[in-house]
Amino acid sequence: MTVAFIGLGNMGGPMSARLIEAGHRVQGFDVAEPPRRALTEAGGIATTSIPEAIRDADVIILMLPNSDIVEATAEEIMAAVTSNAAPAAIRDAAHASPRDAAEANAGAIHEAGVRDRTGAIVVDMSSSEPLRTRALAAALKARGLTLVDAPVSGGVARARTGKLTIMTGGDSADLDRVEPVLSILGTTTRAGTVGSGHAVKALNNLMSATHLLVTSEAMLAGERFGLDPEVMLAIFNGSSGRSGSTENKWPNFVLPGTFDSGFGLRLMLKDMRIAVDLAAEVGTPDPLGQAAADLWSLAATALAPTADHTEIVNWLRKAPR
Ligand code: NAD
Repeated sequence: MTVAFIGLGNMGGPMSARLIEAGHRVQGFDVAEPPRRALTEAGGIATTSIPEAIRDADVIILMLPNSDIVEATAEEIMAAVTSNAAPAAIRDAAHASPRDAAEANAGAIHEAGVRDRTGAIVVDMSSSEPLRTRALAAALKARGLTLVDAPVSGGVARARTGKLTIMTGGDSADLDRVEPVLSILGTTTRAGTVGSGHAVKALNNLMSATHLLVTSEAMLAGERFGLDPEVMLAIFNGSSGRSGSTENKWPNFVLPGTFDSGFGLRLMLKDMRIAVDLAAEVGTPDPLGQAAADLWSLAATALAPTADHTEIVNWLRKAPR
């Protein structure tokens, strides 16, 4: 298959490399040059524009920071699909009356729409906003394009090994079409209609971020009491306080002091806000989630814009009691 991969950062880089290893032709685009260079080194085809990246693609994967950028990218995809129709229209129009030319133009655009309905499908693997995803799917559909959402959990390490947890939203026939590509990246669970993957992803990260914050509070109090952090983690991991923070984040990124999980603190805050907005939209109570998001927001203001999300611990160490 030819896969267009847009957004080649911490996650998109290793994910596109896996698709190349599996034998797919990957045409990648990123606004930054270093990730494009890395794609070329991995055996992919780096392009410098979205129209180039999506040319003849069967699947268009987006792995971008947020819904604003996803929507802007989708606009470019829609514009490229429409302008792909132009050469045929112009060619036909050169030998036609104005009325025939208009019909040829409409026909060529229709053909492009048909081609894209049966051809490329857009897969938003970013952690985007579920309600905006639904609206975007409708806008793309009106232009003959299909959108499914397939956000991921597992971080950079599992992106490298193709062991991501992928949660999808969309019609089952559309998801069947992208499953051969997704299965190279991880294990897929179908969450529901379009936008459902993005909803469950945000809710997962609200839980994950809250776990990390409360785990860090417990670890700092235990340390101050005189407990050995390694011993505490061993006990938590055999007990009911266990979570991804005790099993992975604290032992692998906090205790060694590397803070290099590859997931930015601001991206985590974005996901928490999506989850809190979702709860507001559907009218369920989330006092803890709101409080946690407010604390992460304070940390985001205090720490460097590039801070890893595990650096929340460093902010907490300095927070007033
Ligand atoms: P990142 O910042 O490392 O990568 C994003 C990439 O998108 C960058 O290379 C950037 O240059 C590129 N980009 C920005 N605007 C662009 C545009 N208009 N066109 C093309 N490229 C553009 O982020 P990441 O950590 O790879 O995360 C990507 C998405 O995956 C986010 O939505 C994030 O929330 C989600 N996510 C990240 C992780 C993780 O562990 N890093 C895990 C799960 C989900």
